[in-house]
Amino acid sequence: MLEKVFSKPEWEEALNELRSTTKVYVPAKEGDFHNFRLLGNGKKPDFDFQNTRLSPKSVIFPQSERMFEYTLDERKEDAHILKEAPKDFSPQVIVGIRPCDAFAFQLVKINFDNPQYRDPWWVQRMDDTTLIGFACNEPCASCFCTSVGSGPFSEKGLDALMVDLGDRFLVRSVTPKGDAFLKKLKPGKDPDAALLDKAQDLAKASEKKISSKVPTDRLKEKVVNELFDAPFWERVSFACINCGTCTYLCPTCWCFDIQDEVSGKEGDRIRNWDACMFPLFTLHGSGHNPRDKKLQRVRQRFMHKLKYYVDKYENGAACVGCGRCVQFCPVNIDIREVFELMNGY
Ligand code: SF4
Ligand code: SF4
Repeated sequence: MLEKVFSKPEWEEALNELRSTTKVYVPAKEGDFHNFRLLGNGKKPDFDFQNTRLSPKSVIFPQSERMFEYTLDERKEDAHILKEAPKDFSPQVIVGIRPCDAFAFQLVKINFDNPQYRDPWWVQRMDDTTLIGFACNEPCASCFCTSVGSGPFSEKGLDALMVDLGDRFLVRSVTPKGDAFLKKLKPGKDPDAALLDKAQDLAKASEKKISSKVPTDRLKEKVVNELFDAPFWERVSFACINCGTCTYLCPTCWCFDIQDEVSGKEGDRIRNWDACMFPLFTLHGSGHNPRDKKLQRVRQRFMHKLKYYVDKYENGAACVGCGRCVQFCPVNIDIREVFELMNGY
């Protein structure tokens, strides 16, 4: 483990120098919100944020990705042969990821990298990526990370953690990747005991600020069919407009669709994010749709996160308590209430 302290200008300079060998993703302000963007020449990261509007899942699992390419032109030797589209797997680092979003990569790993299935691109990108967390000194009112296995200063899933000490950052590595990241940077200073104590005090104070809690202790023992038929789904789903905001913003939602796009005789096979909240998500080629009602779709989203995932993987709920779906659902559907309903049913 290495611990270094950087003044804020030193930190920016160090990240800028790193750009010559590594793609550096940082939080950047866009209108009223922050999102992760590649640090460009002359650009500055902006660490003055609570959390980014979109989680950084797209850095590993792009919203649209060309998987394969092909030609239908029979004059060409490789006509009708599917070839992997070129992809960039050069080393990259996400600097400023919140602990909940880093933990989310651990939860979705079970889907993308397990003994039965292995998504080669997701796995390769994770291998090539270093995650530098940013502890939350001021969690949002909608955060409930401490109830679902994470926390504002949690190091789970991270290679290093940054702590904002006011005029400087303390950066502590927790994996060999994190060590290598710190060694590559223009060197910071060793922290003194007073700075380390300050970081500890901030961690304790931040945990106390998390006022939202959700119960999870009885989810596993519930009977699936009883939860499935529970009467509360009618009320929970009533206002939903199936906009998909909750799923697109969620760091643990992983669903995608695969489509072919052909222009002339040249084709691409593309994978795009999809969402269980959209009516077309389950539409069969026959025209039958097993989830044609919004109650079924809303139920699916919550049952997947809070029951099917819990039962199948014994890895807790598929939610890291980031609070995005709570903050941005246009009709105020609140997953914290659904935790209460399901856990207490
Ligand atoms: S954000 Fe709200 S309204 Fe939109 S799909 Fe999700 S639950 Fe429904
Ligand atoms: S379900 Fe909501 S609170 Fe949980 S991880 Fe997804 S967006 Fe965050």
